[in-house]
Parts: sequence; C-alpha cells; structure tokens
Amino acid sequence: MVQRVVGRNDLQEGLHLINDERSGLSGVIAIHSTALGPAAGGCRFWHYESDEAMTHDAVRLARGMSYKNALAGLPFGGGKAVLRRPLGEFDRAALFGAFGDAVAALGGSYITAEDVGTSLDDMHAVHQRTSFVAGLEPQPGKAGGDPSPWTALGVFQSIQAASKLTFGSDVEGLTVAIQGVGNVGAHLCRLVKEAGGRLIIADVDRARVNHLAQELDARVVDVDDILAVEADVFAPCALGAVLNDYSIPRLKARLVCGAANNQLATDEDGAALLERGIVYAPDYLVNAGGIINVSAEYLGETTEQVRQRVGQIPNRLAALLASADRDRRPTHRVADEMAEQIIVSARRVAA
Ligand code: NAD
Repeated sequence: MVQRVVGRNDLQEGLHLINDERSGLSGVIAIHSTALGPAAGGCRFWHYESDEAMTHDAVRLARGMSYKNALAGLPFGGGKAVLRRPLGEFDRAALFGAFGDAVAALGGSYITAEDVGTSLDDMHAVHQRTSFVAGLEPQPGKAGGDPSPWTALGVFQSIQAASKLTFGSDVEGLTVAIQGVGNVGAHLCRLVKEAGGRLIIADVDRARVNHLAQELDARVVDVDDILAVEADVFAPCALGAVLNDYSIPRLKARLVCGAANNQLATDEDGAALLERGIVYAPDYLVNAGGIINVSAEYLGETTEQVRQRVGQIPNRLAALLASADRDRRPTHRVADEMAEQIIVSARRVAA
C-alpha cells in the first residue's frame, strides 16, 4: 500500500505513494528531512486535477514544514501528506483509518496532524491505527487545543520586534491593516488593540468583520482596498500569494508581517519588496506558533513551554532582519538559508 518512489537526495528524503482501493485512499506522503527529528507536517485533503499537481503540492509543502520547524527550534523535520478527496460518496473514517495504516508503515519517520480539509475527527480515525499523530485534544495540564491563538501571539510579537527596527517604536500609535479576521486574524486584532495600535480590517465575511469592528473600534475597508490603505503594517491573515506584481506596487505599509502561509507569489516578489523599501517578515518564521503548540502536544509539554518557544520567534526575526539589512538581501532568502544551515548541520552531526 505504501510505495517509496524517491530516495534520499540533498534535502528531499522520500516520496511515498499511498493507495487503498477499498477505502478510496489515494495520495502521497513527502518527507523533506528527518535530520532534526521525525518529519512533522499536516495532512491536506483536497481535489487535485492530476497526480503531478498533488505531488508538487506535497513536495513544496514538506519543504516549507522543514524550514518552519527548523527555524522554530523544534526537534522535528518536515513532511506533508496530501490526499486526493474522492469524488462522490465515501466512508471518511475508513479512508482516514487506511491513511493511519500508511503513516504507521513509515515507522515514525512521519508524524501527521490536521491541515486544510481535515478535522479532529479525521485525526481520531488515524489515531485508531497509529500513535504518530498530533492535533488531538490536550491532556489535562498539557499543551494542545486550538493553535490559532499561539499563531497570532507569534505574529503579534514579531510585529512588535520588526516595528522597533523599522519605525523605532512598538505598535502603540501605529496603524495595522489586517487582511482576513478568521481564527488567527481576530486574535491578532485584539492583541494589536490592547497594545494601543489602530486597526484597519477587511474580510470577505461581512458579518464577521463588522462584528469585530464594533468590538474593537476598527475601520473596515473593502477586501479589494486593504492592500493599498494608508497603514504602517500590513498583516496578511487570509490567503497565500498576496504579495505579487499587482499588490507590491500598491502597498503603502513599510512592514509586512502576517500569518498567511506562502505570502510571496514568486521568489522575485521578495526582491521587489526590498527594492520598494518594504520590510518583509518571512511567513513561516513568524507564523510558527501553531506548529509549536501542536508539537508540544505531541511531546507532552506544557503551555508554559509553548509560551517560551513562541517568545523566541521575535528574537529570531530581529536577528534575521538585521542580517538581511546589513547585506541588502531579501529577507525570505536569508530565512531559507538559515533554515537550510540548521538542517545541514544536524545532518552532519548525525552522520
Ligand atoms: P480562517 O479560515 O479561520 O480565516 C481566514 C479568514 O480570511 C476568513 O475569515 C475568510 O473569510 C477570510 N478571507 C478569505 N479570503 C479573503 C480575502 N480575499 N480577503 C479578505 N479576507 C479573506 O484561517 P486561519 O486559521 O485564521 O488562518 C489564516 C491564515 O494563516 C491561513 O493562510 C493559514 O494557512 C495561516 N496559518 C494559520 C495557522 C493557524 O494556527 N490557524 C498557523 C499557521 C498559518
């Protein structure tokens, strides 16, 4: 049922095709690196037009998890499972049970959790077959549960640290434009407000955004306008690829720091931000609070340990921004190199 198709090379350790005709399971598990520990990364359940598109997504996401886990100082490598959502009726518990068997067959080199399209119930079905799964309910006195507040806290502390470097002040008195006020964005709004920042917010969900605006005395703008509003900080907390050749020339904020994954549409967009004098806080560095919480649950750690780890994110960001500024280099490239160095050093120690 689990077939290994790619062997170890530089930074991609394995690509495993997983299939189970009876339950309709079809997908891949990509393991980018286990140098720092088991490859940890969620399971995405989605419609894919082709095997190539599915595999491409898995490989790209697995590398992202490696970099995120390495920079967060976690004892985990990076991996990702991507499963094709069957067309028509299917037995969800049976499918995720079969996925649990596939995870078990990898002997602990990959640890799964929720991601886009999967739920707590799905992870319970996985847990029936293997213990290599996180994102379940927290045990009493231990870390776990909703990762969003931790993601928001890491992003907020990063905005504070980057604002000091960019504006010479913290958030108090600054205007922060937040795109998307869902789980993470709403928590972030409250933290900004408590710290004395002014809020401009937008969301496709009008009811949600209006409700939050009332609670926090925030200004609401149209989703098409949030990119170009007069603000000091732009915090993308909705979609990927929001930093692109359309949006970058329109941005007025001098700092971009938000929770959304894969904010840069292309590698060149990071360079374009630098050219415009806009400081970009790399997404996978600042949004690691969620994975820190999930990994703490898996390791049986406490909430206090999560708080401490999340509290290190702004220090890492400050060091990265200083290094990128000194060398006049795009921050995302510096972040990739830092993550790769951590992974390669761990591999050397292990060899
Ligand atoms: P969410 O689905 O709860 O919130 C996203 C919000 O964005 C929703 O309210 C949605 O209506 C809104 N939205 C969608 N399209 C929009 C648009 N065009 N303009 C404005 N708003 C739009 O998701 P979330 O858990 O808050 O995550 C937000 C982002 O952060 C995602 O990119 C996610 O991958 C990333 N992220 C989340 C976590 C976490 O702990 N939840 C961790 C790391 C990264």
